[in-house]
Amino acid sequence: MTEIRRIAVVGGGGQMGNGIGQVAAVAGFDVTLLDVDRDATDRGLARIDKSLARLVKRGDLTEDERDRARARITTGTGLDAAAEADHVIEAIVEDLAAKQETFARLDGICQPEVIFASNTSQFPISAIGRASGRADRVIGTHWFNPPPIMRLIEVVRGLETSDQTLATVLDLAGRFGKQTIVCHKDTAGFVTSRLIMALILEAMRLAEEGVADVADINKAAVLGFNHAMGPLDTVDLGGLDTFIKASASMTEAYGERFRSPQIVRTLVNAGHYGWKTGRGFSDRGTAE
Ligand code: NAD
Repeated sequence: MTEIRRIAVVGGGGQMGNGIGQVAAVAGFDVTLLDVDRDATDRGLARIDKSLARLVKRGDLTEDERDRARARITTGTGLDAAAEADHVIEAIVEDLAAKQETFARLDGICQPEVIFASNTSQFPISAIGRASGRADRVIGTHWFNPPPIMRLIEVVRGLETSDQTLATVLDLAGRFGKQTIVCHKDTAGFVTSRLIMALILEAMRLAEEGVADVADINKAAVLGFNHAMGPLDTVDLGGLDTFIKASASMTEAYGERFRSPQIVRTLVNAGHYGWKTGRGFSDRGTAE
């Protein structure tokens, strides 16, 4: 088993990808952020710079640690630069066919022993593994938003995922400074997406029925249940476009209870994807 030194993050310009890349760089790994074009990787780097600056300001990182972490990050477009990676973390759009195609291509680019991890929120890892040609070395590592702050990685075994792959990824998560839970059965939505989507969907229905306003629905979860964020703020942060895709596939797996209500479909139809576009259930300017 090769020692993991360089990690490629595919979709590294996106919301999750840049945060995952940042965590890995701060933990001492060399990181290659890969995305579709230069604009995307520049966006990712700009977010990392902002986030690292915040950590320095809060005293969580010294300026020297920031500079060293930043120097470990390189970028690339396309997938070819993944050839140098000892581990790949995929965080592209939540689209099963796109993920399968990416993993199939990566199989031809990366060394055979390289483990592929997907940050999918709910797709079966076995379906991604099958497309990769190396199902025993494919696993789900489901990070939370924003990755530098959130403490958990949900690790998901596909049917063929080997014990060695699981052990390597659990060890890696520890080196990233994260806690883990293991989802042993490769079922849609794993543990955490089933839990959070149930809450978010009920919050959307409450808003749609006019039972309470959005601010109070969020406040109920924060003050009543001690959640760090309300469910509608959570989905505004994560992206309504991503949510709708996840909900469609969860509906396929579990039925009507996961179907997106009209209120969120209308926002997405109008191009309001949450804070990343400036507007969702509430307006917050553009997300960091
Ligand atoms: P995003 O849209 O912010 O980022 C996706 C990135 O992938 C973009 O930069 C895009 O250009 C890039 N991309 C798309 N297709 C690509 C390809 N073929 N090759 C390389 N790059 C490609 O999305 P996100 O919110 O960061 O979500 C990414 C993944 O993480 C999804 O699977 C999502 O379900 C999962 N996830 C998201 C959250 C969240 O809160 N947003 C939380 C946990 C998991």
